[in-house]
Amino acid sequence: AALEHRNTYRFYNHDMNTKALERIGLENALRHAIDKNELIIHYQPKFQSCMNKVTGVEALIRWQHPERGMVPPMEFIPIAEENQLIIPIGEWVLRTACMQMKEWHDAGHRLSLSVNFSALQFRQLGVSDRVYEILSEIGLEPNCLTIEITESVAMKDVNYTVKTLNALQEKGVKVSIDDFGTGYSSLSYLKRLPISELKIDRSFVRDITTDQDDAAIVEMILVLGQTLKLNMVAEGVETPEQVEFLRDKGCLEMQGYLFSKPITAEEFQSKFLQF
Ligand code: C2E
Ligand code: CA
Ligand code: CA
Ligand code: CA
Repeated sequence: AALEHRNTYRFYNHDMNTKALERIGLENALRHAIDKNELIIHYQPKFQSCMNKVTGVEALIRWQHPERGMVPPMEFIPIAEENQLIIPIGEWVLRTACMQMKEWHDAGHRLSLSVNFSALQFRQLGVSDRVYEILSEIGLEPNCLTIEITESVAMKDVNYTVKTLNALQEKGVKVSIDDFGTGYSSLSYLKRLPISELKIDRSFVRDITTDQDDAAIVEMILVLGQTLKLNMVAEGVETPEQVEFLRDKGCLEMQGYLFSKPITAEEFQSKFLQF
């Protein structure tokens, strides 16, 4: 048994080393991803539920690794967050997406833009000034931009969140609480936050038509949002039945594969904008 134990230990160790090496490789490659033009943004449209009309897009980062192919954000965002690469990467996303949106606005398409901010990015000193600087530089109106932070990021240090959201709101930038329902928001905190939107997490939307508990949770979130006069968005909508349920309960905006997957700017243009 002792020997077995040792072997297991050694295996485990070996495994850990491979994992660590792999990670270091990924980390080094990520360091050069911006300069090598390996990062791209996909855009997922947001739809108004009553009129089949695109109201805006969410920017979602992709990493086109030369050997590994497309690396999903869930694999490299946490690494970038740990080694602080998320700061330049996040700024690249914001700048690139704003420039793209400016181009669409200039062509007469008044869409809104949503950009995801990580915990570290949101806690960066002077973040609201930095966002405003980039908007001014590009010439995009602040009220077209919505920053998405997850519920857990928002609830971590509520005093900081309130202060930062106030500063952003003063400049005209909107804030949305992403993955709503997965964290544990205190309702009194939620009331204090100057936010304009709640995005209902995909995990609740998935089973609304088959699971009574999920249906009840989504209904409750929608009532809460309506009470607080927030724009409500359901993410991960994949079936017409989900659309019908959500529309019935007064959810005004939806996102999901049923309408469109995240696509390149070119694809978005040819599918949804007539140039
Ligand atoms: P998120 O912000 O909750 O984004 C929604 C995710 O759900 C996206 O995955 C999107 O492709 C996927 N999705 C949308 N509709 C559907 C659907 O109908 N069904 C299913 N199964 N999935 C759907 P993606 O692009 O892989 O992004 C994953 C997460 O990575 C995002 O979750 C976000 O937290 C993070 N992320 C992506 N881009 C950025 C970025 O630029 N900055 C930061 N900080 N995080 C990002
Ligand atoms: Ca999001
Ligand atoms: Ca989300
Ligand atoms: Ca989510």
